[in-house]
Amino acid sequence: MNRIQKPKGTLDILPADIGLWQYIENAVRDIARINGFQEIRMPTFEATELFCRGVGDTTDVVGKEMYTFTDKDGSSLSLRPEGTAGVARSVIENGLYAGAMPLKLFYLSNFFRREKPQAGRSREFWQFGTELYGSSRPEADAQVILLADALFKKLGLTKVTLRINSIGCPECRPSYRKALLEYFSQFESELCDTCRERLQKNPLRVLDCKSPICSGIAKNAPKTLEHLCGGCESHFESLKKHLDDCGVEYIVDPSIVRGLDYYTGTVFEFTVDSIGAQSTVCGGGRYDGLLASIGGPEMPAVGFGMGITRLIQALKDENLVPELASGCDIYIAPLGDNASSGAFVLAHKLRAAGVSAETDICGRSLKAQMKYADKAGARYVLVVGDNELEEGVAELRDMRGGERVKVALSVDAIIEAIK
Ligand code: ATP
Ligand code: MG
Repeated sequence: MNRIQKPKGTLDILPADIGLWQYIENAVRDIARINGFQEIRMPTFEATELFCRGVGDTTDVVGKEMYTFTDKDGSSLSLRPEGTAGVARSVIENGLYAGAMPLKLFYLSNFFRREKPQAGRSREFWQFGTELYGSSRPEADAQVILLADALFKKLGLTKVTLRINSIGCPECRPSYRKALLEYFSQFESELCDTCRERLQKNPLRVLDCKSPICSGIAKNAPKTLEHLCGGCESHFESLKKHLDDCGVEYIVDPSIVRGLDYYTGTVFEFTVDSIGAQSTVCGGGRYDGLLASIGGPEMPAVGFGMGITRLIQALKDENLVPELASGCDIYIAPLGDNASSGAFVLAHKLRAAGVSAETDICGRSLKAQMKYADKAGARYVLVVGDNELEEGVAELRDMRGGERVKVALSVDAIIEAIK
């Protein structure tokens, strides 16, 4: 019979890898807690309109990459391609905007985009994201950037570069838009089909196009920083000062515009060159207009999304994957039928006391059991035969080559011995 395979571009995270994922997840939760960000979990699918209005239908993410389907009642739903729009909807729907400000939220979720699978790019992927609502000040931008930076440092990464830019607010946008339109119009016939189509509607998107011809043309396009209004300029200057004051290095990179329509003002990326073409580990910025654009109140916001698989690649490249202990605390190897039921109960009692204990449930020989205990990474092995059961004492072997000691067959004595 045909074997069924996982859908293209998806990932099985196997037990051998899960320790690393949990290590990263723990680091994320720790950094979020230290920075006062609380976890939020959103639905895996939302009304398609949320992403069209929130993220923008001229973006690649919404225009080309979304998994959209019609529900039985005829409504259009989409698997979430990113987290910011869903959080914004939730902030409005649950009235979180009326609570204490700033509102600091984070998520660790899976997202879905129908992209061409390659290294660092899959169709289901995971992001750690932060969303800070209720402050328009540069300190808020600085805080989310510092949070991401702190995570990289906590994980030991040294080859991460922070790139920042400002793409201006609705006040500076018209003059910039005009300059861009004038510039790109000269090359209109050379642009890819998508960019030619979206040029009039949103010339900014051409700057983020991945096609080599468009990105070549975009290199010499007018820079947002030359078109900032006074407010945006001083905001950007203060952000830089806060980063300088906190000792965080950055590059001002005018080519960073981000691929989603909701960004205004500050945008930033953290890149790791060693991980190849998909070098952006984290991307974010300010999106002051988002809440109102999906029916909420006017409220400034800033945040980022960080790709977990790219983070893992960066850790591997810098040899920073920690040795993680796995396996049980103790394997109880019974010899004979009597011993077998005794061992079964003892393992049960140890587990009830919080010790990870295993025993034979496959009817194996002692030799095969020892082999299994070794493979399973047992820290200690206790061999229990009929004699041992009678005497109430057995030999405890330290599997890391330590000494063998006699231990009484009671939960307390065993816990004491393996402590
Ligand atoms: P890229 O330019 O690499 O396509 P993006 O601008 O589409 O990234 P965002 O939407 O800002 O990315 O998402 C933030 C982060 O999530 C990215 O920097 C990346 O680390 C990760 N990410 C995005 N898309 C994918 C994907 N298809 N597979 C794995 N990680 C992804
Ligand atoms: Mg993308």
